[in-house]
Amino acid sequence: MLDSGLQITPKGLYCPEGDFYIDPVQPVPRAVITHAHADHARPGSRDYLCAMPGRDLLQARLGAAARIESMAYGDRRQIGGVTLSLHPAGHILGSAQIRIERGGRVSVVSGDYKTDPDPTCTPLTPLTCHHFISESTFGLPIFKWPAYETVMAEINAWWAANRDEGLTSVLFVYALGKAQRVLAGLDPAIGPILTHGAVEKVTATYRNVGVALPATRHVDAPDTASDRTGALVLAPPSAHHPAWMRRFRKRATAFASGWMRIRGHRRRRAVDRGFVISDHSDWEGLVATVTRSGADWIGLTHGYAAEMARWLQDQGHTAEVIDLSDRPAPDRGDRLE
Ligand SMILES: [Zn+2]
Ligand SMILES: [Zn+2]
Repeated sequence: MLDSGLQITPKGLYCPEGDFYIDPVQPVPRAVITHAHADHARPGSRDYLCAMPGRDLLQARLGAAARIESMAYGDRRQIGGVTLSLHPAGHILGSAQIRIERGGRVSVVSGDYKTDPDPTCTPLTPLTCHHFISESTFGLPIFKWPAYETVMAEINAWWAANRDEGLTSVLFVYALGKAQRVLAGLDPAIGPILTHGAVEKVTATYRNVGVALPATRHVDAPDTASDRTGALVLAPPSAHHPAWMRRFRKRATAFASGWMRIRGHRRRRAVDRGFVISDHSDWEGLVATVTRSGADWIGLTHGYAAEMARWLQDQGHTAEVIDLSDRPAPDRGDRLE
């Protein structure tokens, strides 16, 4: 049992007094889900609860038969012996920090979060609490993100230069969250914006819940072939193989990820350019959020948890690593992000 009253079990993080799991890795009776990314939202549980703006994304992830209930951000609900509420995490549409109050003690499970601006989701709400479980995907000081506007200006300039040379710009982005955040900052005056099917599908869900985004067309729609030269194409990393890429004869490729901050990752991805943009907090954002919580106990999970825990301990905080993964840690650069 953790100090917070939560338990680490083989099925995931468990709240015994409320009898629910947070982002469980195996099927459970009641799952509270921080957001719809595949490594947090897994199928097979009996009942799901999530924040309202992310409901449709979660349904798409889990399938039409999944039983999903949603709560507005900030609403409070009594579940067994605890009061549960969900608060914006600023990571992707509908992403939530989970706040659990029991006997005057407050625990917060952050899920994935970021402090940087994102026009496609509600900004992170800083919470104060006694126990804070934080992600630490990019928990090293070398991870410092350039401003969103700066990166988008770089992407738009790269696209315009490629267009002038008669090339198609193929930009690889994770289909849920990153694609829409990048799309929101693209300048449609440069040329057509085309999408891989996986990106188009998620983007339609964003539009359905009222997120304003530039117009896009599926790359294989009947009228797009003549437009491909000079277009920007948003595609998931899995599309980077010859069978899919051969529809673009003359092309430039790029990858948009926080991992592009590290030398060597662009080459490994076999793309021409890397743009540093992440839906996770950089080091400063993590440290600011964790310390602002005022928590007297900090649990760290994902990525550089050990490094960040040691740094926080050196600053006088009580911090420890919590392993919530259901499998051995993969090469960090290949994590979904
Ligand atoms: Zn995520
Ligand atoms: Zn994650």
